[in-house]
Amino acid sequence: MNNYHTHTSLCHHAEGKVIDYAREAQLQGIHILGMSDHSPLPDSKWPGVRMTFAELEEYEQQIQEARRKVKEVTILKGLECEWDPAYRGFYTEELLEARNFDYLIGAEHWFPFHGEWNELSEIRTAAHLKAYADLLIQTMQSGVFAFIAHPDGFGSGYDSWDENTRSCSLDILAAAAELQIPLEINGFGFRKADKRTSTGLRNKYPLPQFWELAADFPIRAICNSDAHRPQDVGASIDQARDLAARFGIEVMEELPLKCPAESGRTGAPSF
Ligand SMILES: [Zn+2]
Ligand SMILES: [Zn+2]
Repeated sequence: MNNYHTHTSLCHHAEGKVIDYAREAQLQGIHILGMSDHSPLPDSKWPGVRMTFAELEEYEQQIQEARRKVKEVTILKGLECEWDPAYRGFYTEELLEARNFDYLIGAEHWFPFHGEWNELSEIRTAAHLKAYADLLIQTMQSGVFAFIAHPDGFGSGYDSWDENTRSCSLDILAAAAELQIPLEINGFGFRKADKRTSTGLRNKYPLPQFWELAADFPIRAICNSDAHRPQDVGASIDQARDLAARFGIEVMEELPLKCPAESGRTGAPSF
């Protein structure tokens, strides 16, 4: 089993250091552990849920240390990133090239609407859904990201499944199919508190209806825990895989990454 979505205490809403996740990954039989804490942003937006620029150094050091001490697990250096075209240089030149990050995850936790940024939990209308889908499609089109986290995250705000969620989902799925970018079935969604809706309780995400539609597209899913505690490093991946299997969606076991020869990295694990 592999997991490419893992946080640390540096983001202020998770527990544990990289080494704690690495040791737990070894115990749980995880071969590839992708660290993907919330990236610092060039304009310092939303500082409460991410590391600072100064802490980026510490994050990289923690990964180095864990690579030295837990050789049985391949530990990848990644970050979970919000998209804004203004961040392109930072993501590509600074993170992927200068700092040799192995991969970046594209993830939206806010969406722009009438000049302001709203949280996904505030999604209420068809126009909100459209704004979210547009941003997610731009994220995919950027070509910067290895996969897209919780594409059905709009379920944390929007109440029901209807023509609007269907249309939003079809737009997202068509773009993912065209651009051949994997979509994540996010395990954390199974562990979060249920959302109270007009028709009862349900997971905020993953949304079965989204993945049922996904089955009609040539897309691949990636199943991750989105761990925010070391003991959760492999949590809910089985549920995510069950959901994919229920609709016959192909699951990607291993992410193709830039090859070590190209990256110029030395002394790093091979994969
Ligand atoms: Zn988080
Ligand atoms: Zn995450």
